[in-house]
Amino acid sequence: MSRPAPRTTPPWRLLLGYVRPHRRTLLAGALLSLLAGAVGLVLPLVARELIADLSDDRPIGGELALMTGLVVLDAVLGGVASYVLRRTAESVVLGARKALSSYLLRLRITAVDRTEPGDLMARITSDTTLLREVTTDSLVGLGTGGLTLVATLVVMGFVDGVLLAVTLGVVVFTALVIGLIVPRINRASRRAQDAVGVMGASLERVLGALRTVKASGAEHREEKTLHSAAEESWRQSVRAAMWSAAAGNTAGLAIQVAFITVLAVGGARVATGAIDIGTLVAFLLFVFYLMSPIQQLVGAIAQYQTGSAALTRIQEALSLPAEPTSRPAPLPGADAEPASVAFTDVRFRYAADLPFVHHGVTFTVPARGMTAFVGPSGAGKTTVFSLIERFYDPEEGVVTLDVRPLADWDLPELRSAIGYVEQDAPVLSGSLLDNLLLGNPDADDDAVRRVVKTTRLDGLVARLPQGLETLVGHRGTKLSGGERQRVAIARALLRRPRLLMLDEATSQLDAVNEAALRDTVADVARSTTVLVVAHRLSTVTMADRIVVMEAGRVRAVGTHRELVGADPLYAELAATQFLAADDSPEQP
Ligand code: ADP
Ligand code: MG
Repeated sequence: MSRPAPRTTPPWRLLLGYVRPHRRTLLAGALLSLLAGAVGLVLPLVARELIADLSDDRPIGGELALMTGLVVLDAVLGGVASYVLRRTAESVVLGARKALSSYLLRLRITAVDRTEPGDLMARITSDTTLLREVTTDSLVGLGTGGLTLVATLVVMGFVDGVLLAVTLGVVVFTALVIGLIVPRINRASRRAQDAVGVMGASLERVLGALRTVKASGAEHREEKTLHSAAEESWRQSVRAAMWSAAAGNTAGLAIQVAFITVLAVGGARVATGAIDIGTLVAFLLFVFYLMSPIQQLVGAIAQYQTGSAALTRIQEALSLPAEPTSRPAPLPGADAEPASVAFTDVRFRYAADLPFVHHGVTFTVPARGMTAFVGPSGAGKTTVFSLIERFYDPEEGVVTLDVRPLADWDLPELRSAIGYVEQDAPVLSGSLLDNLLLGNPDADDDAVRRVVKTTRLDGLVARLPQGLETLVGHRGTKLSGGERQRVAIARALLRRPRLLMLDEATSQLDAVNEAALRDTVADVARSTTVLVVAHRLSTVTMADRIVVMEAGRVRAVGTHRELVGADPLYAELAATQFLAADDSPEQP
């Protein structure tokens, strides 16, 4: 993600996209603040009246009331204006955050493989926040500052054209200088936000593995990484601030220069009689009136640079490959038929710059029954499951479910047919029940009770202080490895899938639990298609067919009895690699 992605949309257009739904309120806020300014301008006029009345001994009640009214009106308008503007800006941030979160949930797994989740998180949380100032300060500043500037210049043109030309010369020269500074603000802001992304990524890495970090005594080193990212962000933000200040001061300086130039040129014109002294004085006053809109504009442009750096980072996240949006599909009904699966000459690699992982994988799994995938680690077994879920697409060959190529399936519909317990399946933070219902939020209490029993989680539920409502902690830290695996299996079973895929799903269970789960899975296989990556001889021997994989190819397919005699690799695996059923790695 650090290399800039191809920019499909310029940042300002992306910004306008987020602002568009709120353009009315934004305009209203800007008008209100202009109005508040105008009310402020009336005050001196009333004050002049008041003083005139005082010196002529007339009553001043009217002026006092009017001034009080104006002051209150000014305060109210100003207050409402800043509330409306801020509220609009927050809505823009909200819109961007929602759009980004929805998008990131749809990211293709390929994109996630190549991105730091912590950096993506920073893009949603931190970069979007910067849109707030961009909306209020830059957009409103550009609008009101620009309007005031143009209006003032027009009025100045009426006073004296030659002096206006002199002033414009200075303004244009300043604009060129500021044009040189602006990209530096952008670059520094970009680096500052990238550093926040790096920090997010390191934080995610460290907090996700805090036990390992502590056990390895690596806190100090990880602290250095975090600190240096924070410092880099500081350094770049300070640099951006320096260039912003330079731009602001250049604008201030320009006004002074314009003043001196107008004084000199205007003085000469007064001397030749081209203009009178009153015109020169009026013009000089106008030059000072230019100060505020110009500084507002420069501030807006500088602010926009920070925002545009953030917008570019948001844009990059939005250009990562994602799955198409579609509604979630309903889960298959109780009477749904089990699914069949087939691979035909599937060649696949995780990325174009990585070696092939499947070199022409072919096998067929009929509906119903249990199929075990065995083979040395790295053979490509997990990849088979990833392809069936369409986390990735094969480069060549076809995968079918129900004889229909996966590419022809509606993605949510495909996934709703499948229950998948991935290797090292995670438990999410939240309650135990949340975790069970993740794949089927509509499951009733009865179904939950049944599945808790068949996955032998009932003992755990009884032991936990709040039963199913007990919070299981970040990544299920309050559960043992075996308990986490049983939660994952229960979650998949609750979906009543037409295809159940278990990837080393019982590797951490003790012998008693493993045997019980084996019976459950055998039971499920009578009505569902079950694919297992198995690690225990007892499970493998029970399978209706075994697919032996090695180095991205299918070596042999058959039953245990057939394969032991026919395939030397299988015979060796059976003799040495499969764990005996009485291994008991599960700890309480
Ligand atoms: P198995 O499950 O049989 O142990 P896998 O299907 O997990 O094997 O992996 C097959 C090969 O693909 C391995 O060499 C592994 O390093 C590689 N691999 C797995 N996942 C990824 C990934 N997300 N990105 C790149 N390479 C991967
Ligand atoms: Mg695997």
